[in-house]
Amino acid sequence: MISFMRRLASYCSCCLNCGSFFVRDGLLCKRCDKSLQRLRTVAANESKPYAARALFEWNPGQSDLLSHLILSLKGPGHKKIWSFYAKRFAQTFAEAVPSGKKIYVIPAPAKKANSCDHAYLWAEALATSLGATLIRGLENVGSEGTKKQRRKDRGERALIELKATVNYTEGVSFSEGPLIVFADDILTTGATARAAHVALGGPPHFEVWVLAKRSLSCGASRDLL
Ligand SMILES: [Zn+2]
Repeated sequence: MISFMRRLASYCSCCLNCGSFFVRDGLLCKRCDKSLQRLRTVAANESKPYAARALFEWNPGQSDLLSHLILSLKGPGHKKIWSFYAKRFAQTFAEAVPSGKKIYVIPAPAKKANSCDHAYLWAEALATSLGATLIRGLENVGSEGTKKQRRKDRGERALIELKATVNYTEGVSFSEGPLIVFADDILTTGATARAAHVALGGPPHFEVWVLAKRSLSCGASRDLL
C-alpha cells in the first residue's frame, strides 16, 4: 500500500497520505499536513556534548502519516519537499541558531559516495534556508557504507565509523570556531551522529539536525528504515 501511494504521489502530485489532489508543497494535503503538525517537536534535546534538534517526533506505529512521509523521502529526488521542511525547521529553531557565527552543514555520507541522497538534499536545503555553507565533510570507512543500517542491531550501529575529508578549523581559534551541523533524515540511536562528532575532531560547537527523531520504544517496524 505504501509503495503504491509513493508511486501514485510521484506521478500525479497528490497527497501522499490520502490521495487528495489538493496537495501542498510538503507532499500532503491541508488536512493531512495539519495532522502532521501535531507531531512537531517543541524542545531540542540539549544533552551533552551537543544538541540534537528534530522537526518531528516519530514513534513508528503511532503515525502512519509520518511513516509514509519519511519513507517516501528516502533516496534521491524530492528536492522541493526537503526544501519545504528545511524552511519549517529553520523557522522552528530560528532563535536557537546563533547569529553572526559561520555555520557549516555536513550531510551524513551517502551509501554511494558523492551521490545526492536524502541526507544530502536535507543538508543542502538547510544550508540554503539559513545562509550556511554546505560541505561534504564525511565519508564512510570500509564496508560500512554498503551495509544497510536497518539490518543492524544497536550493537552494530555503535560501530559506525566515519572519516572527515575536510579540515574546517584550520586557522580558526577555539572561541571563534564555526557551528558544525551534522544533518541526517532520522536520529535513532545517535550512533551515526556520535561517529560524525568523533570523526570531525569533537568540534566545540556541534549540533545534530534531523527531520525526525525516532523512538526506540517500538521495535516492530525496525525494518522500515
Ligand atoms: Zn491528505
